[in-house]
Amino acid sequence: MQILVTGGAGFLGSALVRRLVERGHSVRVLDDLSAGDPARLPQAASFMRGDVNDLPRLWTLLQGVECVYHLAARVSVPESVRYPREYNAVNVGGTVSVLEAMRDVGVRRLVFASSGAIYGNQPVQPLREDLPPDPTSPYAVSKLAAEHYVSTIGRLWGVETVCLRIFNAYGPGQQMPVAHPPVIPHFLRQVLGRGSLVIHGSGAQTRDFVYVDDVVEALIAAATAPDVDRRVINVGSGTETSINDLVRQIEAITGLEAHVLRVPSEDGGVSRMCADLTLAHELLGWSPRVFLSEGLRRTLTEDERFARGVARVH
Ligand code: NAD
Repeated sequence: MQILVTGGAGFLGSALVRRLVERGHSVRVLDDLSAGDPARLPQAASFMRGDVNDLPRLWTLLQGVECVYHLAARVSVPESVRYPREYNAVNVGGTVSVLEAMRDVGVRRLVFASSGAIYGNQPVQPLREDLPPDPTSPYAVSKLAAEHYVSTIGRLWGVETVCLRIFNAYGPGQQMPVAHPPVIPHFLRQVLGRGSLVIHGSGAQTRDFVYVDDVVEALIAAATAPDVDRRVINVGSGTETSINDLVRQIEAITGLEAHVLRVPSEDGGVSRMCADLTLAHELLGWSPRVFLSEGLRRTLTEDERFARGVARVH
């Protein structure tokens, strides 16, 4: 297949592009490099730097394409609280631009990377796709609005669409922005560097951590699965892990004791997150394979190898 991946130079996008190329697909990537790194991409992928709202560029890149993976987005929840206009422009506006360009060129299917963040705080777990969303940040609102645009415009214009609600993805190569880095790479780095881990509240809050390779397999299945048009499907591990338990698992695989600082909980934090994976199994024939302990081990090994490689080059 000819495939376009927007945001393909990012953490999940580049892992997806590598796997698609390994499977013999012809892959184009559009990324503005605001967070991505083209060095992660295989030689065989064709990379274009650009904004996802640039329609002429999208028209060019979409010629002959059968499926678009739309991953380009601003992805920081705390940053979205400060800059909601930017999150709306990229995450909502960018999604509408991709859909318009797909209609203009005549592309068959869109796979959209949505987020488990749209559920917010719910009275029941695990989280099923038919629960009423309760977004607690502009980031989550932008993903929910984009989901609605995707399925509504898709229906009106005859584009097949599927939205995958990805939970907390982790794995080798995850970006570490200075402000508000994702919890797993941050905790791993702090424990290895003998720094402190800051836990907000009791640490009993839970998340559903899903390994990058599992997310990639779900994305790949979504490009060809029948009967997924306009469906919204969870992609997680199906396991609820508390932050305290995460720390214990990191201590176990590193063999180091974590120095934990506890501070009052932040406003707006979600207390529990666990994906119900029934639909993913039924519609995509997909289930996660990598347990957290194994995923943490792989992340540690790969990131250490990468760090040593970089150290040699410089
Ligand atoms: P990432 O920041 O590594 O990747 C996003 C990519 O989009 C980056 O390479 C960035 O440069 C690019 N981008 C941003 N704005 C752009 C623009 N205007 N035009 C073109 N490219 C632009 O993040 P990620 O973790 O790989 O996330 C990929 C997608 O998956 C995002 O849509 C995110 O919302 C979604 N998602 C991720 C997770 C997770 O845990 N990583 C969970 C749920 C959903």
